[in-house]
Parts: sequence; C-alpha cells; structure tokens
Amino acid sequence: MQNNKKETLEKAVVREKKPASEGRSHHSRYEKIKLPQKAPSTPVKIAFLGGLNEVGKNMTLYEYNGDMFIVDCGLAFPDTEMFGVDFVIPDFTYVERNKDKIKGIIITHGHEDHIGGLAYLLKALKIPVYATRLTAGLIEGKLAEHKLDDGSVKMNVVKPGDHVKFGAFDVELIRVNHSIPDSVAFAIRSPAGLIIQTGDFKIDTTPIDGGMIDLARFAALGNEGVLCMLSDSTNAENPGFSQSESKVGESFESLFQKAGNKRLIIATFASNIHRVQQIINIAEKTGRKVVLSGRSLEHVVEVGSQLGYLNIPDGVLIGIDMIKKYTDDKLVIITTGSQGEPMSALSRMALSEHRKVEITPNDYVIISAKPIPGNEKTVYRVINELLKLGAEVIYEKMYEVHVSGHACQEELKLMLGLVKPKFFIPVHGEQKHLRRHASLAEGMGIPTKNIVISDNGYEVSITSESIAVSGTVPAGKVFVDGYGVGDVGSVVMRDRRHLGQDGLVIVTAVIDSASGEFISGPEVVSRGFVYVREAEKLINEIKECAADVMDSFSGTSDVGAVRNKIKDDISRLLYERTKRSPMVLPLIIEV
Ligand SMILES: [Zn+2]
Ligand SMILES: [Zn+2]
Repeated sequence: MQNNKKETLEKAVVREKKPASEGRSHHSRYEKIKLPQKAPSTPVKIAFLGGLNEVGKNMTLYEYNGDMFIVDCGLAFPDTEMFGVDFVIPDFTYVERNKDKIKGIIITHGHEDHIGGLAYLLKALKIPVYATRLTAGLIEGKLAEHKLDDGSVKMNVVKPGDHVKFGAFDVELIRVNHSIPDSVAFAIRSPAGLIIQTGDFKIDTTPIDGGMIDLARFAALGNEGVLCMLSDSTNAENPGFSQSESKVGESFESLFQKAGNKRLIIATFASNIHRVQQIINIAEKTGRKVVLSGRSLEHVVEVGSQLGYLNIPDGVLIGIDMIKKYTDDKLVIITTGSQGEPMSALSRMALSEHRKVEITPNDYVIISAKPIPGNEKTVYRVINELLKLGAEVIYEKMYEVHVSGHACQEELKLMLGLVKPKFFIPVHGEQKHLRRHASLAEGMGIPTKNIVISDNGYEVSITSESIAVSGTVPAGKVFVDGYGVGDVGSVVMRDRRHLGQDGLVIVTAVIDSASGEFISGPEVVSRGFVYVREAEKLINEIKECAADVMDSFSGTSDVGAVRNKIKDDISRLLYERTKRSPMVLPLIIEV
C-alpha cells in the first residue's frame, strides 16, 4: 500500500509541469554520451473519474500514447445532504478535453453505477459504445428516454471472447458472475503490458443461467503475465465466499410455504433478472400469479424477456389492474424500492399512497436486498411503516433472502492468485474496502510498493517497471435534478439546504414607484420556520423591523437598497431571537 501517496502525488505533479519533451531530451542526452540505455517505456495511464472512495458512478479512462478509451459511465445516488438531487454523475471535463483521443467506451455490465451516466456522456460526446447483449438492451432504453436513439450513437453488441480495438489497445471480454446477467471483465492489452479490470464480479458455481465465471481464462492470462489488475473491492471486508444466487431460490421456496394464504410482496433490485426469474418459477409451481410494480422493473423485465434472459411461462404474469380478481393466496407482487427510495412502489405502499396496492395484515413482505451503505434509515423507515399496517416483513437478517453479487475475501484472493498481477489497484469501494482489499493482496505476496490506492481525479501511470500516481485530472460530482436536467448549481444546492434546515420568511410590501412612499405592508409569511400563530410576538417584531427600514427609506427610488436592508436587519433579528437563520426573502412590489 502506498502510504506516502500524497507525497508521491506532489512530486508527480511537479514532474508533470515540466515540458512534455523532457523525456526525449533525456533520452538523447544519454545517446550523446553513448551510455547503453533502454529507451524509457511509454506508460499506460489510468485516470479515475469515479468509483473510488464511493460505491457509485464508476468511470475509468485508459490512455496509451495518445489513444484513449473509457470503461463504464455510472451514476451515484445522492447522500442525504444533497437536497432535491435525484442522482450524481461524473464530471466530464477531462473527457471533453480529450475528445479527439477517445476511441470509444466499453461497459462491464448493466447496473446503474456503471451505465447510469452514459446518456449524459453521449449527449456531449458521440463515441461508439461496446456492451454485451443485455447491457446494450438496457442502455438502448436509456438512449430512447434521452432521445439519443436517432442513430447518432453507434451501439456494438459484443460477447465474452470478443476483442475490441481502441487504437493501441486490444480489449478482450471475459465472462464473470454478478447480480445481473451478461457481466464481463476486461483483459486490456497495450504495448506497455496486460491489464485486467475485473468489473463487478463474484464466483458463483451454481449460477441461475448456468454460466460460471471463466476462471480458466483468468488463469491462462495469469500465466501469460499480467502487469496490473483493478479489482472489485465492495465485499473486501467480508470473509469467506459469497453465497450462490441459487441459495436465494431455496429461501424463497420455504418462505412461499411460510406465507401460507397471505399475499406475497417481494422487493428487489429491478436489474436482478436472476432473482426475478426464481420468483417467477416458484410462483408458477405454487399456482400464484405474478404482478410487477415499478417502472424500472417493468422495463428490465421487458428487455430481459425480449432478449431471452428471462423465461416467463404463459399466463403467469398479470397486469396490476387484475389483482382484484385474485385472492391473496394466488398473488405475488414483485416491486422496486428495496432501498427505501422515497418515490418507489414499495415506499408508496408503505405510506398507503399506492393507487393499486393496499397493504393489509394479510400481506407477507420480503425485502430481498441489503441496504446500500447510507440507505439504512430509509429502508428501516419503510419496514416500520409496513409493520404498522400489520404486514409481516422479512428482511435480510432473518432469512437468506439476499446474496451479494460481489466477491468476498476468499474469492478476491482466488482471483489475485489466478491472475498474479505485478501491480494492483483496488477499485469499486469506499476507502475501508480499498484498504482491506490492498491488505488481502499484500497477504498474497504482492509488495506494498506495487499496490496503489487511488482516488477519483487521480491519474496512475504504469510501466513494466513501476506504478505511481502521476498527476491529477478534473473529476467531481455533477448533480442531476429531475428528468433530463443537467447540473444543479451550488447556489441552488445551498438554497435548498438553507430552506430545508431553517425555513423561509417572506416580507412583502408595496411601494409607489413615483413617490417612493410605501402604500401597503409590511406583511410577513413564514414557511418551515415558525408556525405563525404560535409566534405572534416574533412575527410582530419582524413587521416592526421591516416598518422601521421602510420609514427610513421613505421617498426612496432605490428599491434594491430597501430589500437588502430589510433582509439584513431581519436576518440579524431572527438569529438573535432564535439562533436560526431562515432564508429571508423581501418582496417589494412597485406600483
Ligand atoms: Zn454491479
Ligand atoms: Zn458496481
């Protein structure tokens, strides 16, 4: 592990500032004095635009000798500090700056943290996209939503074993297991050496679709000699092996029995096609009809069954409007909202706001997912609301209703052991996951100096001899607010935080613009700050304060100055009285 990372970076940045020709003059100087010297090898540079020190918005940029390509372009979900932000995507500044070098983008799998930012990227940059069939199907849905399905984006469907050329790079796809079908790892070849990026993976010896991760290929590449590996760190803290997806099927079978005559409601990730398949299979066996609730779920099921990744027997799936025709014991509702997302179908059910599904004590709810770190509160809120309505709720700690899609320690070690990389960069995780993964690699005999824990905005250079953080690139968070909107400015964010914490006080008055006399007001309205009836005294003080300002400005033509003075004086007054700082909004209407 590189503990002197900062220091290395500073040195590296200084080096970066030197003229680009430095390398060559160095070389010729050696030639002049005729020392036998190997030409300095051109490094592969890997720039991280997302996915490090977070679980989300994965995006990695590879560069060799002026040729570039991108792996993944995902989104992240906002933390609770980000008011009104729907999701977060990477900052594309660095990509746009290098748009002439970028040959294309290749995608590991169809999860939102890997494809969710893609439509926004493709609006800015028309580059060819390479993805496996299901991933491509899910991406096409997004392109259509963003009106990018006009042929301006070239989609290339590829499969494990295929090679994709990006200038000097050759990228080979390798099959892996994960919680969505058609996930792949990449073997990335360039004259600098072979790099493996695992993508999100686990080792599932009994996967639902019968295709196990291609361990033999990883081993063969390992024997060929791998310069560097970038590997999934999500579960690096968890000992042992991850459970097989088939395990969830077994749990479901027994829970279907336990549910007896109750109606089943199962919340899961929309993209977990294998899990949806298992629910459908058991539903068919037990004579229940399946109802889908949630737009993303309907979309994934549609794409999945069109492309043959989901097998739905005739007559099992019914529309949500049909549920009244069946008794509870003949129904399974599969729903989105396993993360407690406020607008999701499950949340609406829990809050009795769902138009079609009303929760009763005869409901048996299974949350077939684990809260993503940070979502625990919202998930438990939904569980509590469901319990209040009398439903029985099963969630992960009670039965094995969820298995992870990410490799645990023994699997990560197995991967390290097969690939035997010279250099190692743990990716896809928070700092604690990256550090844990790094120490696993150390335990496997990779020297500390050969392991780099990188960060978003770092560029890592790798040659056959060395690995180091070699510079920084612009990287950050771009907030996406509502459908199709680009960027929520920091001012808007600040205002929302302000309003959310302290509320709003509006002071209105009417001024005669000809004479500068106030002819009405001040009136005071507050929202989210104090309830007016309970704070009459304070409201009167606000009015007096505003009236004083208006008096002192009587006859003025400078309405802006009145506005500012009212704002300042009232803010100060409110802070003195309440130690809070609501947003003060003076509305002076000129007539
Ligand atoms: Zn994933
Ligand atoms: Zn991921």
